[in-house]
Amino acid sequence: MNGRVTLLGAGPGDPELLTLIGKRRLHEADVVLYDRLIDPSLLAFTSDKASLVDVGKLPEHHKVKQSQINQLLVDYARDGKNVVRLKAGDPYVFGRGGEEAQVLEQQGVVFEVVPGITSAIAGLAAGGIPITHRDYASSFHIITGHHKKDGQKELDWGNIAHQEGTLVFLMGMAQLPTICRELVAHGKEKATPVAVIQWATQWRQKMVTGDLATINDLVARHHISSPALIAVGDVVKLSAQLNVSRPLQGVHVLLPYSKRQRLFNQLVDRGATADFYQRTAKQALTADLTVVDQAPVLLVDSIAAYQQFVNQLVNTGKDLRALTGKKIIALNQVVARHLATAGLIADGVLAEVNLPTDYVELGGEKPLTTGGHFLPLYQKAPHPRQLPFDLAEFNAVVFPSTDSLNDFVLALDDSQRAQLAGLKAFTMGPTISAAATKLGFQEVIDCRSEIKETVKAIEEEFRRD
Ligand code: SAH
Repeated sequence: MNGRVTLLGAGPGDPELLTLIGKRRLHEADVVLYDRLIDPSLLAFTSDKASLVDVGKLPEHHKVKQSQINQLLVDYARDGKNVVRLKAGDPYVFGRGGEEAQVLEQQGVVFEVVPGITSAIAGLAAGGIPITHRDYASSFHIITGHHKKDGQKELDWGNIAHQEGTLVFLMGMAQLPTICRELVAHGKEKATPVAVIQWATQWRQKMVTGDLATINDLVARHHISSPALIAVGDVVKLSAQLNVSRPLQGVHVLLPYSKRQRLFNQLVDRGATADFYQRTAKQALTADLTVVDQAPVLLVDSIAAYQQFVNQLVNTGKDLRALTGKKIIALNQVVARHLATAGLIADGVLAEVNLPTDYVELGGEKPLTTGGHFLPLYQKAPHPRQLPFDLAEFNAVVFPSTDSLNDFVLALDDSQRAQLAGLKAFTMGPTISAAATKLGFQEVIDCRSEIKETVKAIEEEFRRD
């Protein structure tokens, strides 16, 4: 059976700048081949079953050769796989997407190209630079700075230097001195504004602005290197006015638990980058549901337990009507609210009722009460796959529960544990704070149990004034 290859544009860096079809293709993929420009959190859109292949190449040090990448694409597709070749920006703007497509066509592999937002345009915007502007530039030119290698043609500097529009060089950092020299030698003013933007749209974005005479020194002084965009032209002047900085820009927060979308959204809307780090997964256990038949009262420990219970009920050919006449008690108000969303109004919460002796507790790993009949419905297992995050790249981590903290720290190796001290831990309650201190976090900030409080605390800690 033949598979298919999608040459997929990942956008400029910020994972939220992926297209809708891009997100769907990642979810459908059996295999994803990605490289070093890709933000690893994009891989969170893949299914747990997908294999992730890092074909990342460093500029002078090709990890996987282009010919090998081409071969992998063909082989996986012939093996019947749904393959995504995840490429930075737009697949057809440099980065050899056109060559990959040609190979696929020649080999008779079904393929498609899904566009992405190119860094050449969006990366400038992330530095407050509109690539065109009525007063400054009526065209733009996207140029490779990597011209001498790979048999590419020499650049026609005379032609380039005479363009009035914005010049954007990609893959140009190694050639920056040459680019500036040639542009000046062919007639551009030394005072022509230049911006260099590294890791545009990502938490690690860095930018300097200067002109054709000064930019080399500035780049060296600010330690800016590849991958970066070099923008040349009067539009660069606008960055002083249009480069709006957001309070949490550059802050990289780790959320080591499954989706808490509200906290994620609030952090991201303030300019932070937040990544989920899923340490454990819930594995369903097959429970003997016959004990439920006779029980007048069910205590529900968590919405996860309830969902597993309903799944099993349905699998045995029954449904919620099997609960008719039984009292449903929720562990607490949070669980009660979740149950209501799932269509079940609890008759009370544990703290406010007296349980009879013959109740059944629907739970996870261990019973939270003594006395009743405990029905374990799931257990925690290591998450089937971890995304390639580097702990050293985060500033902060948020723990909403002691469980999230324990699961996370337990799963780390020794060198990762040593990195914990460098992460500020924001905990949502005093018990969690105490546990975090005990586990080696040097800076623990207690945010009580509120999302609002947590966002505020992170802002106070990192705000750039
Ligand atoms: N297809 C990509 C470009 C691939 S070539 C696109 O459309 O954006 C690789 C070059 O793109 C890098 O050397 C760098 O110049 C640029 N680039 C890609 N992503 C970038 C980012 N987030 N920040 C700065 N430069 C980036």
